[in-house]
Amino acid sequence: MRAEPQSFDRVLSSMCTEPHPAAREAAERFLATNPGDPGTYQTAAALEDRAVAMLGEIVGLEIDTADAIGAADEDGSGGPTGYVTSGGTEANVQAVRIARERAARGTDRPSVVVPESAHFSFRKAADLLQVDLEVVPTASDHRVDLDAVRAAVDEDTAAVVGVAGSTEYGRVDPIPELGEIATSVDALLHVDAAWGGFALPFTDREWHFGHAAVDTMAIDPHKMGQAAVPAGGLLVRSADLLDELAVDTPYLESTSQATLTGTRSGAGVASAVAAMEELWPDGYRDQYVRSQHNAEWLADQLESRGYDVVEPVLPLVAASIPTWLFESLRAEGWRLSRTGDDERVRFVCMPHVTREMLESFLADLDRLESR
Ligand code: PLP
Repeated sequence: MRAEPQSFDRVLSSMCTEPHPAAREAAERFLATNPGDPGTYQTAAALEDRAVAMLGEIVGLEIDTADAIGAADEDGSGGPTGYVTSGGTEANVQAVRIARERAARGTDRPSVVVPESAHFSFRKAADLLQVDLEVVPTASDHRVDLDAVRAAVDEDTAAVVGVAGSTEYGRVDPIPELGEIATSVDALLHVDAAWGGFALPFTDREWHFGHAAVDTMAIDPHKMGQAAVPAGGLLVRSADLLDELAVDTPYLESTSQATLTGTRSGAGVASAVAAMEELWPDGYRDQYVRSQHNAEWLADQLESRGYDVVEPVLPLVAASIPTWLFESLRAEGWRLSRTGDDERVRFVCMPHVTREMLESFLADLDRLESR
């Protein structure tokens, strides 16, 4: 059977999108390569260095690709670095693992403080790594409640997590303040910008990885970065943090590996580089502006129809659409999903979501409503 992939025509729920044509082409070219074995697949490994350097540029970090794992700076820590993960889940799991390894030297009950808005991958991380997950509430603006974070941290806190572009509401936590809290208990600050990372440089936020106390970050080319799946990103402030993950690799040409998976997709890596070379910065800026305008337009349209709407800070709208209507729209082929509390439907204005598509969606919504 020759199955065709689903079209993006009616997809309003996904954090992924149609890859840029250059990214698709690069993915196909590198399909049979494995950057997990850099001694053998040298071109894919070199492309991964390039991907990490470009991700660093996007988040305001200067990454010297000579700072491979284990390379020491004057203070012995090594410069910023990272690797291309299978996605945001792997980046988050690995960030928690780094924090746990580092904290293991001071506590036997490491914990990680996450906002309730954090992606469910942190639950997987806590489960796998046997760390306590301290979930703190968000305030009415859907950003983490800083007082609750202050109350939750203590000497067992291995990491504080901030979300920069939350999955349900697209909100950005107060990252510099979270950094201060993390520093006060000698914990790491991990920022999950898996979805928001490629939009944030074009917003008026006051922080970036380079000057806030961010230690590790997730930023996924296969989401807003328009690369093919699988292409996530884990960045770390200093190479010694990645060393916490390294294991010896006796049968490979290289001697150690910090990634979670062994064999990895060179397609994702090559596609991430192709997308970023094509789109950074102007293409991403134009896309962000288009997507953000679409989100604001949709929010206005829904509001004018009487729905309660959470205003989009990034290109994601959440609105209180009743369950019967949500189900009817899904039955018409619209791919939609709800927030975890079932209160709202989320509309992710990814690059494949055009104004025409939103107009067609609203026409269906109006028709179903008036029945
Ligand atoms: N972090 C955030 C903020 C996300 O929105 C997602 C997925 O949507 C993830 C992490 C997990 O990413 P992935 O599905 O690529 O593992």
